Amino acid sequence: MKRICILLLIALSAQTFCPLVQQSLVIAQSPNQLEDSDAFLQTATRPASGKRDYTRDVESLLARMTLEEKVGQMTQLEIGMVTTGQGDDIRVDQAKLEKAVVKYGAGSILNVKDHALTPEKWREIIRGIQEASQKSRLKIPVIYGIDTIHGANYIQGATLFPQEIGMAATWNPVLMKRAAEYAAAETRVAGVPWTFSPVLDLGRSPLWPRFYETFGEDPYLVSVMGAAFVRGVEGDDISAPTHVATSLKHYMGYSFPLTGRDRTPAWIPENYLREYFLPPFAAAVKAGAHTVMVNSAEINGTPGHINHHVLTDILRTELGFKGFVVSDWEDIKKLVTFWKVAADEKEATRLAIMAGIDMSMVPSDYSFSDLLIQLVKENKVPQKRIDDAVRYILRVKYELGLFDNPNLAAPPANFASPEARALSLEAARESMTLLKNDGGVLPLKKDQKVLVTGPTADSLISLNNGWTWVWQGNDTTLYPKDRPTIVTALKTKGAGNVTYVPGVALDKEIDINAAVSAARDADVAVVCLGEGSYAETPGNITDLTLSEPQLKLAEALEATGKPVVLVLVEGRPRIINRIADRARGILMAYNPSNEGGTAVADVLYGDYNPSGRLPFTYPRTTNGLITYDHKAFETEDTAFGNVAFKPQFEFGYGLSYTSFAYSDFRLGQMTIGPKDDLSVSVNVTNSGTRAGEEVVQLYLSDMVASLSPPGKRLKRFAKIYLQPGERRTLTFNLHPADLSFIGSDNRAVIEPGDFEVAVGPFKNRFTVK
Ligand code: BGC
Repeated sequence: MKRICILLLIALSAQTFCPLVQQSLVIAQSPNQLEDSDAFLQTATRPASGKRDYTRDVESLLARMTLEEKVGQMTQLEIGMVTTGQGDDIRVDQAKLEKAVVKYGAGSILNVKDHALTPEKWREIIRGIQEASQKSRLKIPVIYGIDTIHGANYIQGATLFPQEIGMAATWNPVLMKRAAEYAAAETRVAGVPWTFSPVLDLGRSPLWPRFYETFGEDPYLVSVMGAAFVRGVEGDDISAPTHVATSLKHYMGYSFPLTGRDRTPAWIPENYLREYFLPPFAAAVKAGAHTVMVNSAEINGTPGHINHHVLTDILRTELGFKGFVVSDWEDIKKLVTFWKVAADEKEATRLAIMAGIDMSMVPSDYSFSDLLIQLVKENKVPQKRIDDAVRYILRVKYELGLFDNPNLAAPPANFASPEARALSLEAARESMTLLKNDGGVLPLKKDQKVLVTGPTADSLISLNNGWTWVWQGNDTTLYPKDRPTIVTALKTKGAGNVTYVPGVALDKEIDINAAVSAARDADVAVVCLGEGSYAETPGNITDLTLSEPQLKLAEALEATGKPVVLVLVEGRPRIINRIADRARGILMAYNPSNEGGTAVADVLYGDYNPSGRLPFTYPRTTNGLITYDHKAFETEDTAFGNVAFKPQFEFGYGLSYTSFAYSDFRLGQMTIGPKDDLSVSVNVTNSGTRAGEEVVQLYLSDMVASLSPPGKRLKRFAKIYLQPGERRTLTFNLHPADLSFIGSDNRAVIEPGDFEVAVGPFKNRFTVK
């Protein structure tokens, strides 16, 4: 009944129609509970059985292929190489197709041209491409790939979900998995069998313009959410009409550039690469991911695309990855033009293929195929390397069912269903992270006079950010017309009590005085700040501070003495220290997508009890970029009394409209052997007056280690829903691997000694003998 009412609500898109339902919304939150992140992760693996073994099909096809056909399979071209026309008028071009797919036998095509296409248009284009593939000698189907980043964002009308950073803030992999299922099914409706997601890079550099594409700074949280994403998108069988293949990206170390700027050098020693950056990829490979996309930058001077150790020794030999590895955009050419590790494209091609690239996202000419054929003929690339790459590619095509039916389009009923939209709203709500609520300024009362102001109050672009209908997310014509922005949703709830004055644009003053005088007539000012949309390198910035006009607007409103609530709609934590202290309330909304306006309004008016927790450390100052898992000695410059670690808000932090009390913290044993598990249990009670969700977090500290240990590391979490007065006992099991770290020899080691385990307000020590 509740679900029906929620759907009804969405359909009516005006909650005032249904006051009784409004009431039930307060209660009907959180159907997705998580008792133990470890149990989730342990089962997030691809089932070993039930999948047909295609080895014989692959080998018999491979045996019939010419060198040219094999190299064709390793070639990925962009859509413009097979189409003409612009925008919605794009169509396949037979002459271009003939060259790309029949003559060169290109194994894959990718991307959108100008903007998202309708499912029908996608099906038409892919049908054309596959018809051409069926004219080739061996009729090998093409694998089409697009970036389904936060839902099927390159398909017009698709259901979009919060960007990964917001999904991470839910700390709810069950919800992530369900969202990924919808994203996959909708991608498949367009006939597209392959997505370039999830992003598994760690968000540890807030300047980095792809921060919002990540699941945040912690390797464990990223591993759990990433595995959930893979399981949701791929399911148990990627040939099913509701699933597609994933591509784990960008393998690995891409997200931690020294400067914070996209595609610039990172210095990451191998032990830290293994300690922090590898685990999410390892978990996602275990979860069954079929492809991997490569780091488009460099680590330690070696560009990702020629890193044999990372692409072959670690990925293939250690992780046992059986899928194929695709390059990122034009990255073999960039080895010459950008990274300058090869004198010409032929040498670049040799280095990349020998390092372990199986498919090159060329994407706009035929140089790759021509050069690779020459290299094999000159014995500079062994035939075996080519055969291996093609084996990996063909296997994925077989497993997708492309050989049975190259047009995989699934039933349109799976597209943009009311259930998908309801889940998007649920995800947006669950991501909302309440960071400050002094004097209980929130929830707002419906009879309070509310001024809404700021540049993100009336912007679906800010709610979505990049990878939305177009790469940069900035084409207003493509956004749905019926999704409320924050101010529209607030007006619906607050009836005649909500006024809106923009005040400033993102980087420009409009009329701050108008906002100030409107505040004088209001009981509270909701100031919506943040960012516009950006993706990849165009999103580079040199200063994390929120723009001056926005800070001035908030300061002017705070100076009125009226309570100010900041709503932050942003893909990375912009510095707000000038306005945070005097704000009475702060809500972090991230990029919650098209239902985000409703979600913000639900939380501000208390129709939804917030439960998001920060998946990163919110810095206070531009140079105070220290993650939560910093070394213990970094906290203070003891000799001088400076507090070095003083973030605006800590990783894992977030408030609720209820309160939770922890009790009965118990360790199974106080001394364990290095091969033993340790159980840790705690009781959590909802000690407040309304139902709500708590994210229970378990941190572990190694007190002394041969490499200076981090102050603490997240090892487990749970997300539980409790009625007022309800109590739940949680028991987490720590395994030996949780006590280990990667030593200076790049191997995992457990060193005997004392450890400290902390949950909520409790800590206790135990000893490993
Ligand atoms: C990005 C990838 C993306 C690819 C195809 C590249 O510029 O780095 O993340 O998958 O383009 O759109």
